[in-house]
Amino acid sequence: MWQQGARRFSARFCRRFSSTIATSAPGVNTRVAATTVATVSAASGGLWLASRQQESKSARCDADPVALGAAALGGAALGAGACWYHLNGQIKAEKERRSKYWPRKIMMLFGAPGAGKGTQGPKITEELGLPQLSTGDMLREAVAAGTPVGKQAKAVMESGGLVSDDIVIGIISERIKQDDCSDGFILDGFPRTLEQAKALDKLLTVSGESVSLVMAFDVDGSILEERICGRWMHKSSGRSYHVKYAPPRAMKLDANGKPIPSTMKDDQTGEPLFQRSDDTAEALSKRLKSYYGTTVPILDHYAPHGIVKKVDGGRSIGEVTNSVLAALKM
Ligand code: AMP
Repeated sequence: MWQQGARRFSARFCRRFSSTIATSAPGVNTRVAATTVATVSAASGGLWLASRQQESKSARCDADPVALGAAALGGAALGAGACWYHLNGQIKAEKERRSKYWPRKIMMLFGAPGAGKGTQGPKITEELGLPQLSTGDMLREAVAAGTPVGKQAKAVMESGGLVSDDIVIGIISERIKQDDCSDGFILDGFPRTLEQAKALDKLLTVSGESVSLVMAFDVDGSILEERICGRWMHKSSGRSYHVKYAPPRAMKLDANGKPIPSTMKDDQTGEPLFQRSDDTAEALSKRLKSYYGTTVPILDHYAPHGIVKKVDGGRSIGEVTNSVLAALKM
């Protein structure tokens, strides 16, 4: 009897709670809501059972406290489980509805090497929950894994040249089909040529989509070399550090004021950091030449659509983040 009561109570509570969320706050994080509801439901179930036990205790003085405690826990777990099951169904239905009727948010981070794409991308991911797709990271993974693509790309990447359009278009067209891109994605380092931009547009047109925002970081050339040559990366997370502007906590300097490599460790995991083989002054000059000559014309391609937003990327990380987040709302 009491189990049915608890179930009915929690289901009714969940339905009411989730429909209130859906109508009054459609953008709310449903996982947080589900967890809240499950917790409230468990607590309500426990309280309800406790009051039932109290009644039954006054009626029958021989109640076993262990059995009553177990019953209370069971009731609470049942209530939470029923609620969780109910909400999971709602979340799935909402996801299906979104993927059917809402276009994906397709953003592009645009800027020279060292402009801050890799630093600001994770802030947008945090804000919007969209994955950052860096063709540079994907290619580095392919090189490290020694795949056929990696073998083709290795030498050209080390010299600061561009990998062929066919390879990167192939990588991106497969990547954006994955589940985590169902609400949208942030492109980082792609497209880099007008041909890549046109191939992307064509790919998106097939599904009735288009690029919705190009966030272009403006940074003076004189700042880029200092940023690139002082950059250290954490491989698995992509976190980037800078010997002067964002040093890792463990960093120690030698007598010449240069960082001691063995002390360059990731703040969160303590794992060693590395410097990219193309983060040198020589490779940078080639990368910048290709950026200004081949990549910048892409801005003219998207500008007529009114989707290009410029951000002054020459300021501190925090200041740039504020402008980036403000630009997302406009
Ligand atoms: P990034 O990490 O974006 O600076 O990219 C590192 C290197 O990967 C570049 O210098 C290129 O050699 C290669 N790469 C990354 N993305 C592309 C792309 N869209 N087209 C051609 N080459 C790319």
